[in-house]
Order: sequence, then C-alpha cells, then structure tokens
Amino acid sequence: MEYFSNQIGTLVERLSTLPGIGSKSAQRLAYHIINMPQEQVDALAKSMVDAKRNIHYCKECQTLTDGEICPICASPNRDHHVIMVVENPRDQAAYEKTGKFTGVYHVLHGAISPMLGIGPADIRLKELMTRLAGDVDEVIIATNSSLEGETTAMYISKLIKPTGIKVTRIASGVPVGGDLENIDEVTLLRALEGRTEL
Ligand code: ZN
Repeated sequence: MEYFSNQIGTLVERLSTLPGIGSKSAQRLAYHIINMPQEQVDALAKSMVDAKRNIHYCKECQTLTDGEICPICASPNRDHHVIMVVENPRDQAAYEKTGKFTGVYHVLHGAISPMLGIGPADIRLKELMTRLAGDVDEVIIATNSSLEGETTAMYISKLIKPTGIKVTRIASGVPVGGDLENIDEVTLLRALEGRTEL
C-alpha cells in the first residue's frame, strides 16, 4: 500500500519540480495546501494559471508584463535615451527597488555561456540592437559579474561600439559571481554611479 494517497503524491511530485523545493519542502507545502481554506487554494491556483496565460514579454524591453508594453516603458517620466541591460527580470527589480535609476531597461533573459551552449542568438540581443536604431544616448551594461555576465558584457559592447552610442559597464563592488538580486541597494547604487565607459 502506498504511504501517500495518489493525489497527495502527485501534488508533492509537482511541487518538487519547482526550483529550491526539495522533496521535504514539497511535502510540507502539500500538507499546508490541503489544510488551507478551499477559496484560498482556488485563488492560488487561479493566480498561477492567469499569470502563465497572460504574462508575456514587453514589446520594448522584453521584461515580463501583462500589457503590450510594461509600465516602465510606457512611463513619460523615464529617460528613454538611457537603457540599462540586465540578465533577467529579478535583476531589473533589484535596480528598480533602489528608486534611483530613471532610465529604461532591456532584459536579456540569460547570458552568453559557451560552456552551456548558450549563444548570442539565445538571449534577447537582437531586440536590443533594434532599439538602438532609435534615439539612444547610453547603454549601461549591468549583467552579473560572473564569467557569463562578463562574456555577455564584452560581446554587447563590441556590438554597440560601431554605432557610436556610449556604452558603460557598472562598477565592480558587485562581488565576482554575485547575482545582482542578492546585493543590497547601496552596493547596487554605488556600482551604477561608478560605471565606466567601455
Ligand atoms: Zn518594457
């Protein structure tokens, strides 16, 4: 006889496919969900389905949004001539939390990694180059300081240089191999203010 009922087993199994959720956490979550009021479980499930169904890439910056264009790209209060390039929406959120960056973003959804077989065509670089045909004064490359992040920064700067647009790289101070999302706001701001031209 199975220890778990089939449906609990399925729930545990599905939850454990999520990042950072091992089988123990999955079991804990499964029991928690089963003990939640029905309407809360319905709302949780619905928010997952709705988000998956309605959220897509912003036509401009490629971040995740439920509109055609994200609120930052749509804002007249942002400086659309300065574009900060980040690896993912979490890094964008980290910079946005500082409240000090007034430009717009471009989200690559990854970084170039020859080791993992991720090339320039596998991230949203083509979309960035298309945007640069418009009126852009500066591109700030804020990819992580990992090997992949540095490789990507180098590649992008080489690509942009011939256009004559100013390309800068956020200062180190962001620890090597550090993910932007785990770094405090002061360090992020210092990295932004201390950016150097490539
Ligand atoms: Zn956008």
